[in-house]
Formats: sequence, C-alpha cells, structure tokens
Amino acid sequence: MTSSYGPCVLLKHGEIFLKGHNRHRFTERLHDNLRVALRGIGGSTWIKTAQNVTVLGGQVPQEALVERARRVIGFNSVEPAVRVPSTLEEITRAAVEALGGQRPGSGFAVRVKRRDKQFPLTSSRVAGHVGARVLEEVPELRVDLTRPDIVLAIEIDRKETYLSWTRHPGLSGLPVGSSGRALVLLSGGFDSPVAAHRAMRRGLTCEFVHFSGAPYTNPASVYKAYALARELNRHQPPGRLHVIALGKAQKQLAVAGAGRLQVVAQRRLMVRAASELAARTGAQALVTGDSLGQVASQTLANMVAVDEASTLPILRPLIGWEKQEIIDEARSIGTADISVLPDEDCCQLLAPPRATTRAELPRLRAVERRLDLDEVTEALLDNVRVMVPGDDTAPEEESATCRHPEVAR
Ligand code: ATP
Ligand code: MG
Repeated sequence: MTSSYGPCVLLKHGEIFLKGHNRHRFTERLHDNLRVALRGIGGSTWIKTAQNVTVLGGQVPQEALVERARRVIGFNSVEPAVRVPSTLEEITRAAVEALGGQRPGSGFAVRVKRRDKQFPLTSSRVAGHVGARVLEEVPELRVDLTRPDIVLAIEIDRKETYLSWTRHPGLSGLPVGSSGRALVLLSGGFDSPVAAHRAMRRGLTCEFVHFSGAPYTNPASVYKAYALARELNRHQPPGRLHVIALGKAQKQLAVAGAGRLQVVAQRRLMVRAASELAARTGAQALVTGDSLGQVASQTLANMVAVDEASTLPILRPLIGWEKQEIIDEARSIGTADISVLPDEDCCQLLAPPRATTRAELPRLRAVERRLDLDEVTEALLDNVRVMVPGDDTAPEEESATCRHPEVAR
C-alpha cells in the first residue's frame, strides 16, 4: 500500500515556481526527469505534487530516494521527511519522535507553514504547542529561535503534514528538456563538462560530440569523454555521445598549409561537423566550454572565426568564468577527477608552436578552399560512433514509478 504514512522526501521547486501560466508544463517535465532518475531503484515509488513542492515516497529506503532526487535539476532542496495525518496529535507525536534522537544540548526551533488555512490552529500556535511538548518529552534539548542547531519544519496540508529537519541543497535551475536540445562539444578537459552542466541547468537536454585524434592518438580521450558524459547523464535522460575521428582531416588541414591557423581551422571543422550532426539529431544549438581569452584559441577574433563556420548558434556558458572558478565547479559536480586524467587530446596533435590569436577569415578560407570541405565533413560524419553512456538500467523497471494514488484518481 503506497499511501501509508511514514518516511518520504520533500522536493522544493526551484526557478519554475516563477513561471506563470505554463508552470504546469515545467512541473510535468520535472516529474518526468525525476521518474527517469528513479529507474532501477529496486522498488515501487510514487510522486505527488503539492504547492511548489513535490513529495516522493515508495517502498525503498529513504536515503536511496534522497540520492536519486539530488541528481535531478530543478529542485532547490531535497529534504528527508515524515508524513503524518494532519491532526495536532499526530504532528506533535512525530515531532517528539524526530527530535528525540538529536544530540543532547542542541538548540531547536519549530517553523510551521499552514498550506491549509482550514487547520484549526494558526502556525504560531502549532509551533508553540509542538515546541512545548518537545521540551517536556526531550528535556535535554533547548529552544533557540535565533541560531538553532535544528530547524524542524512542519508543513500542514489538508490531509497530510510533512515534518523535516534536514535539508540537502538541490541542483536548482530549470528542468532538463524545458528549453530545448543542444549538442555539447565535449573534450576531455575541465571546461566543456562544466559548460554542459550549466546548459543542462538552464533546461537544455544535451547530446555530446567528442573529436578524437584517431588514428594518430590513443583512445584515452574517448574514454574520458565517455566517463564525463556518463557523469553528466546522471542529471538527464541519458544523452548520446557521438565520437568522431578527426586525425586524418587534421592532417589534411596541415598539408593545406594551415600553419599558425591550424587550431582555429580545426575548431571550424569541428563546428561544421557538429552543426551537421546537430541537424541530424534535432539539436538547436551547440555548446562549448570556451571562456574569453583563456587560451590562444579563445580570443574574441578566434571565436568570431569559429562562429562564422557554424550554421547553429554556439552557446558558451563559461564565457565570463575564470579558470579557477571552472575547476572549483568541476570538483563540485564530480567531473574534475575524470578531466584531470592524462590523454592525447586531438588539439595538441599538429598544434603549431605559436598558434594565432587573430585568425583572419580570408586566410582561413584560402586554406579551406584547398580542401573539399563538404567531402571532408561528410567523411567525418560517415564514421561517427554512437554510444549512450550511463544507460544501463533494465527497461522493465521503468514502470515501477507511478503517480501517487491520491493524485491518480
Ligand atoms: P576544455 O577544458 O573543455 O578542453 P580548453 O580550455 O582545453 O577546454 P580548448 O581546447 O580551446 O579549451 O577548447 C575549447 C572548447 O572547444 C572546449 O571547451 C570544447 O567545447 C571544444 N573542444 C575542444 N576540443 C574538443 C574535442 N576534442 N572534442 C570536442 N570538443 C572539443
Ligand atoms: Mg581542451
């Protein structure tokens, strides 16, 4: 019986609560993503919506629900909670039980929110009543309303009430998929996974493309891109990773006399191929990890030259970030440990000793004219390897997530 009272998890909605008439659509998307994150959890689960809050429960340990919910973009906080019938007696009993296990000497505060104004007592009366009873039953605690060690939050709905006293920060942002689809140019470095994560937090579903230097480099960069995409896919319905071997085309550019323009010419080829791939996979924009002026290839002039080769807008979420900020963020989202591993990046292959910081379009075009660009791009796309990192859940487990029985009616 899924509707029995007991442990559950409260998920406070992030930015979608600012949305007006189409908030419903955002909430649906958020819940779809939550269901995907719950796949393979090993038991049945249910989801229920209250005002700006999603309640999650099921026949699985509460910690497992918390862990899965924390992966989902769009919740400001994830709070383990208990669910009791909305009566003063039940609320007080649950509060005493919850605070009974806390460290002696801790200061606590009770904060009450009444979403159901029919409830016979005001919020402050409930807080006063509950606080007094807790002190009676658990005298080793003390009340501290200014700097409490424990905040017991009580949210009273019409039928049921939620009590929570632990708050994990969520990933906030907009639900993945609510803003459209993008193709992320994913290298093995620190920047592009962080850019992808930011794009996802603005509601973009991400697919990934990685260019390797094959056949002239070892596959380490592909393994890294795979591991990075798998990490990023924890936050969205798994997006595909497309791997393109760029080595031969890089040689062709070198032979065509790219010289100091080699890196920018390669980057232009990457966005050409990526634009075409995006057209085939339904992505509306490209995403890169560029940050203005970070390296020679990321000067404004070079970015303009790269943009010119793309048929799609190139989004650069990290444009104004400093390297240290990017590395710190990579640590916090869990991609840094992968990015730091050694690889043979295709950009180092054939990189000139001094790359240009001011690529001039006429010279770039002259180099490119010595190649049949359409043919080169076509050849790159003919040999794309496609994988879905992180999609290892059994399909039959998908049906385990259903709506909360009270909502389904
Ligand atoms: P990163 O840390 O993301 O590799 P970077 O500081 O090394 O970035 P560049 O190598 O100039 O900077 O790359 C700039 C952007 O171009 C990357 O963030 C990425 O989006 C894209 N890019 C570079 N190399 C590749 C590659 N081999 N495959 C896919 N995208 C790439
Ligand atoms: Mg790089």
